[in-house]
Amino acid sequence: MKHVTVIGAGTMGNGIAHVFAMNGHKVNLVDVSQDALDTAIATISKNLDRMVAKGFLTEDGKTATLSNLSTFTELNAAVKEAEIVVEAATENVDLKLKIFRQMDELAPSKAILATNTSSISITKIAAVTNRPSQVIGMHFMNPVPVMKLVEVIRGYATSNEVTQKVMEMSRALGKIPVEVNDYPGFVANRILMPMVNEAIYTLYEGVAGVEEIDTVMKLGMAHPMGPLQLADFIGLDVCLAILRVLQDGFGNPKYAPCPLLVNMVTAGRLGVKSGEGFYFYQPGIKELVVAENFKQLN
Ligand code: NAD
Repeated sequence: MKHVTVIGAGTMGNGIAHVFAMNGHKVNLVDVSQDALDTAIATISKNLDRMVAKGFLTEDGKTATLSNLSTFTELNAAVKEAEIVVEAATENVDLKLKIFRQMDELAPSKAILATNTSSISITKIAAVTNRPSQVIGMHFMNPVPVMKLVEVIRGYATSNEVTQKVMEMSRALGKIPVEVNDYPGFVANRILMPMVNEAIYTLYEGVAGVEEIDTVMKLGMAHPMGPLQLADFIGLDVCLAILRVLQDGFGNPKYAPCPLLVNMVTAGRLGVKSGEGFYFYQPGIKELVVAENFKQLN
């Protein structure tokens, strides 16, 4: 596929645009915020520089990748030639339904409409379009240029042909796709988010401090990153939204988000993207510093 549109230029959207553009696709990157688009292009450029420095990409490869990218603040012009659209806007069901209704109207009738949602039902999103057999989940992992997995989620009506195309395209991007069915949280987040929530409960109940919890899981379970650091990295708002989907979708109170997580999101402490979550983040500082609110527990 030559023409790809990526909707949302945040944490995931810029990574998805990077990977498609680096593999020779023409990418239209759309966001309602010009700032988000500017930051995305700067981030992609910085990440490409890192790849050049490590010898994974040539300078010409970097120039070609950047020339494959165009940015838009309006959906209309950005999707009219799309063969596939990958939506990576904010994890909010009403927003995604609105975007899919618009895309269904504006994108060519043959285009595949994919979503990078972490947890929202693909079947529900597909149902607001006139092409449910062409709607599919394409769940990239963060950071997209580095992580190999793509969880390919078949909605109730997704066709075999579209599933095979998306599996093949993921392989062509250098990824390893895994096909799963459409139930709340799919596979990745159904297993990951209860663990993250339990780590937050462990902190909330004073069992241990931030560093202690993360150290137990890193050294004891061979996880490359502790669950609290991982939650900061994913975004605490995204974690909360996924837990709500699991709670509503299964009707099981075991998925109820920890009140501490709810408070942190309400206070705007969203993790890396807001500069503070369980840890404190400052540009240029690599070492982990526990956020002020949790220092007395450490
Ligand atoms: P983010 O908050 O970093 O970025 C979301 C972007 O969407 C923002 O730039 C926002 O301006 C933009 N946006 C909002 N409304 C829009 C609209 N109508 N049209 C175009 N753009 C719009 O969020 P993120 O972490 O990149 O998450 C994006 C999606 O990817 C979510 O569905 C999330 O669940 C999923 N996801 C996130 C992660 C992760 O680790 N953060 C991992 C896998 C999947």
